[in-house]
Amino acid sequence: MRITLALLCALVGVTFAAPVALIVDAPVPLPPAVASAFHEEVDLVFRDTGYHFSWINRAEMRPEDSFPDLVMVRLKSECRLDGRHPGGPSGKPMALAWAHRSGDEVLPFIEVDCARVRNMLRVLAHGEPAGVQQEMLGRALGRVVAHELYHVLTGNSSHSHAGIAQASLSAMHLAGPALEFTAREVNLLSRRSFAARQTQQPTAAFEADEFATDSGR
Ligand SMILES: [Zn+2]
Repeated sequence: MRITLALLCALVGVTFAAPVALIVDAPVPLPPAVASAFHEEVDLVFRDTGYHFSWINRAEMRPEDSFPDLVMVRLKSECRLDGRHPGGPSGKPMALAWAHRSGDEVLPFIEVDCARVRNMLRVLAHGEPAGVQQEMLGRALGRVVAHELYHVLTGNSSHSHAGIAQASLSAMHLAGPALEFTAREVNLLSRRSFAARQTQQPTAAFEADEFATDSGR
């Protein structure tokens, strides 16, 4: 079957890029409803870019696992939106997530501050049923991670005037109607989604957190 599929691809000139493994490192596992909405939102945002993703919990990785292309996604603090985890006091806006850098290079290592995401959603989520709150949080995580994935996958630190790659995302951007890439980012991502990504070294990428330097978005 594998040979047949390979021959078919060669005949029709189709190239399949390996999925980018998104390795999620969370202090506690995400509630299933949050994880589901999180993954679906990333897939939705990237649907026209040529990228597709596989999701791996870092705690479940085995030493023999290897991935041709991967991005680490570390979730700081517990990603739950319920009464046990109220938002902190409002204050100066701070980055919800960021991609680490080394010099001018954007490293495949994303961090998300869930406490800040929770705080951003606090007013909109107030009074909503638990299921709605979980979906809201998952969708918000998907959007902030999609924003950082754009930086990582393109190596581009610039922002757009609109859509998910704009410099600052509001609560309504996180919880409101679908937020997409503009044509500019779709073009950038589409060009990078094959050859450029296939040259990355997975081992070096996975160990990036040991020497990464912090940066804002
Ligand atoms: Zn950014």
